[in-house]
Amino acid sequence: MKNKPQETQKKQSDLAVLLGYAGDRRKLTFTGLALSALAMVLGMAPYICIYLVVRDLINVFPDFSGAVSITKYAYLAFLFAVLGIVVYFAALMCTHLAAFRTASNIRKEGMAHLMKAPLGFFDQNASGLLRNRLDGAASETETLLAHNLADIVGSIAMLLSMLVLMFFFDWRMGGACLLAAVISILAMMSMMGGKNAGLMAEYQAAQDVMSKAGTEYVRGIPVVKVFQQTVDSFRAFQTAIENYSDKAEHYQADVCRVPQALNLTFTEGAFVFLIPVVLFLLPGAMASGNLALLVTNFAFYAVFSAIISTALARVMFAASGMMLAHTALGRIDQVMAAPNLPVTDHPVSIRGSGVTFRDVSFTYEGAPSPALSHVSFRVEPGETVALVGPSGGGKTTAASLIPRFWDVTSGCVEVGGADVRKVDPHDLMDRVAFVFQNSHLFKDTILENVRASRPGATRDEVMKALEAAQCGDILEKLPKGVDTLLGSEGTYLSGGEQQRIALARAILKDAPIVVLDEATAFADPENEVLIQKALGTLTKGKTVIMIAHRLSTVVSADRIIVLDRGQVRESGTHRELVSRGGLYARMWQEYTQALQWKIGADAPKAVAETKAKEAGK
Ligand code: ADP
Ligand code: MG
Repeated sequence: MKNKPQETQKKQSDLAVLLGYAGDRRKLTFTGLALSALAMVLGMAPYICIYLVVRDLINVFPDFSGAVSITKYAYLAFLFAVLGIVVYFAALMCTHLAAFRTASNIRKEGMAHLMKAPLGFFDQNASGLLRNRLDGAASETETLLAHNLADIVGSIAMLLSMLVLMFFFDWRMGGACLLAAVISILAMMSMMGGKNAGLMAEYQAAQDVMSKAGTEYVRGIPVVKVFQQTVDSFRAFQTAIENYSDKAEHYQADVCRVPQALNLTFTEGAFVFLIPVVLFLLPGAMASGNLALLVTNFAFYAVFSAIISTALARVMFAASGMMLAHTALGRIDQVMAAPNLPVTDHPVSIRGSGVTFRDVSFTYEGAPSPALSHVSFRVEPGETVALVGPSGGGKTTAASLIPRFWDVTSGCVEVGGADVRKVDPHDLMDRVAFVFQNSHLFKDTILENVRASRPGATRDEVMKALEAAQCGDILEKLPKGVDTLLGSEGTYLSGGEQQRIALARAILKDAPIVVLDEATAFADPENEVLIQKALGTLTKGKTVIMIAHRLSTVVSADRIIVLDRGQVRESGTHRELVSRGGLYARMWQEYTQALQWKIGADAPKAVAETKAKEAGK
């Protein structure tokens, strides 16, 4: 029972959902639709005027000077036509105002929702892509609300008033016109409904597959070039194109040919239907002397039947707008389905800077096995703990649970004695600084990029942080120093340089807890030395949890935790672990061997250095 409201909400029509976004401008939509209907009814008036003109002309035939009222009717027709246009314009004004508001509300609500998603969500769903999707979908709803809907309502009003007009002058001729219209509608429906609906869906699905394969193909062009492959290697793309063309051909030739021919014949040539009716009525009219009326009516219906096709085409066109809006809403729903990071109403305060994992298990959504299972460890304030282990062991996952990139599946992660889920997210963010593998720099100046971690920081403080992060050489070579706009005019930084800017950012933040993920993984040797120096400054006096592939950097850690297949295998100091002869000892041996192999002649020296570092510990 409790779920009832949600369920009914799910069944809401697309239109109701859209109007929900319109807020207080919803009324404007309704006003616009009413005006649009009025405009279409007004648009019918000129046809009545034409009827009156024809009637007068036929009545006075052959002495046309007797047709004194036709000028009046002509003016009336003109007046109604203009009035119709003006009212239609006003209608579109209303629907546009409402549509713009709706689209902007969709964007706002979508962004607000995304802001509440856990950060890890954006690892899996590029934020730019999500924003584009939201943006595109919002503009697509604009077309529906601003134009299609007004046209649908207008066309319905038009069809209704046509129906009235049809039977007003001569129901038999009206019936003939209606019959033609009904046949063409049936033909049209047979193309899309029944067993053909499946074909239509297949055709659209094939089109979808083709465009996706096309995207893949374009993405793969570098590979094609490097490996000298041909389009043939993109079998998937080729098959998709062939499949689409088969489906399109089949749908058009076998399904659409006859109905479309019927449809066009009966909409464009509806007046042909009038001829037998007129022939049938002719003897009676001659006998009763009503010939003039019959001719007048015939003239009217002949003109009138021509606009039936316009009205029908309009409905068709508007209906396709409905379909577009439906898929757009689907995409908006995808954005709105982004998980929300639950925020507590009664936040607990963080005391101290220790980090504790209590029996933590975590499984990525849709993953068959847990990335972490029953992981427990404690990092005391001021301690430096290194997470090591084979790739895929769960190190990054463990680190990302601390700032709540994700929430644990079971167990809990505590910072300063408080469960991270029970503290104010802002408070948590203030306490923890992270430097991750691919640090993200904004398209802004270096100054602002660093300042992002502490918006109130002065220029001086930023400069000090940059200095501490060994960024002097970067600033020197840039045209405007710290005020250089990144990503513009060819100002791109290498991976190691970006890493140092990210370190400056973390240094400026001066948070008591520092989480580092493979901060040196991509750096070249020169950068690595500088990065190590910067890390020294960053981690001084802090609680540090660091992940590093190069074991030389973790030798000096207070404690090393070995994560393998999501579980803590070993933990202890470097010495303890080496003497234990377990997984870490094996990794260490491989590492030193690799070092010897890599450095060749210099090996004894390098190993001696590492050993010295080890001994100093
Ligand atoms: P490590 O950093 O030790 O190399 P990770 O924490 O990155 O290991 O990965 C642990 C496990 O979780 C791996 O099996 C990996 O495939 C999986 N994994 C990592 N990130 C994701 C993700 N975003 N979605 C699903 N599975 C993931
Ligand atoms: Mg990792």
